[in-house]
Amino acid sequence: ISALALTGCGGRGDSGNGSSSGAAAGFDKNATIGVALPQKTSENWVLAEGLFNTGLKDAGFKPEVQFANGGVTEQQNQISSMITNGAKVIIVGAIDGSQLSTQVKQAKDAGATIIAYDRNLKNTSDVDYYVAYDNFKVGELQGQALLDGMKAKKPNGPYNIEVFAGSNDDANSKPFFDGAMSVLKPKIDDGTVKIVSGQNTQNQAATAGWKAENAQKRMDTLLSGSYSSATLDGVLSPNDTLARAIINSVKQAGKPIPVVTGQDSEVESVKSIMAGEQYSTINKDTSNLVAAAIDMVKALQEGKTPETTSKDNNGTKDVPTKYLDPVIVTKANAAEAYKNNPTLEALTK
Ligand code: BGC
Repeated sequence: ISALALTGCGGRGDSGNGSSSGAAAGFDKNATIGVALPQKTSENWVLAEGLFNTGLKDAGFKPEVQFANGGVTEQQNQISSMITNGAKVIIVGAIDGSQLSTQVKQAKDAGATIIAYDRNLKNTSDVDYYVAYDNFKVGELQGQALLDGMKAKKPNGPYNIEVFAGSNDDANSKPFFDGAMSVLKPKIDDGTVKIVSGQNTQNQAATAGWKAENAQKRMDTLLSGSYSSATLDGVLSPNDTLARAIINSVKQAGKPIPVVTGQDSEVESVKSIMAGEQYSTINKDTSNLVAAAIDMVKALQEGKTPETTSKDNNGTKDVPTKYLDPVIVTKANAAEAYKNNPTLEALTK
């Protein structure tokens, strides 16, 4: 009887004990919440900094938001100091999702919960939750936009294209690229679409550090190597910063601007779309993503399990994931797509 009684009172409804689901027993409302952001490689990260600071403060927490512009080592050190400062939750937008295993293990050992933000952490069981816009879907939308844009300009193919991928150390680069290629591949196979340079793998297409200058250099080389006589109809670009670099390269080469995709709804790219240069972008409203991450923190604070919609396998674990829905934006639907974002909506007038 005494053994039964002991088992019976041990539970306290604290199921999972943090090890498998990451469900915590709750913590003080004024707890420190760490937010480790990567480098400022696109506008969304800069917006996230302000939104996390305000949103976490408004919810009563003590935010500690850091950028790691110096690179991976700096981000590792920042996470370590968040642990030392007693952070109860650490939200991580990784520079390199495979280089933080030691730090997130230390964080877990110290009793913190880890939420991967926008980019998942790879090959570690010490990530509890992931919140992001569905990255594979982003790629699919980009691939489809590229085909639609080329068709609108020139109803019958074949079409000459080049493909760009993001930085290889970013876990998102693969789903972006694979999603887009899943749409383009059948058209490449049936001869409607041709990658003239032949550079069709993620490695060949990669843009180190998501840096505009690297994409611009590669586009310069592709143009001089493969397009002295051929016409370039379209370019798959994984985001807006790279899209604008690709367009610059084409302009400097004195060639007509092809259909170029993008992502992030950066101000300069929305302007470019309205001016008829860049063809498409993706709306992944940063305030909704930050709000979803903060909702997870609030649930954890109350000792509840955050709401998730899916799982993302990170190589070691199926990480409980909340996916938000990305939206494709072209000149045709920009006003509608940005109706909840006064800054961007104003650009569509
Ligand atoms: C984000 C993109 C962004 C890229 C470069 C990716 O992980 O999902 O929105 O364009 O990083 O900052």
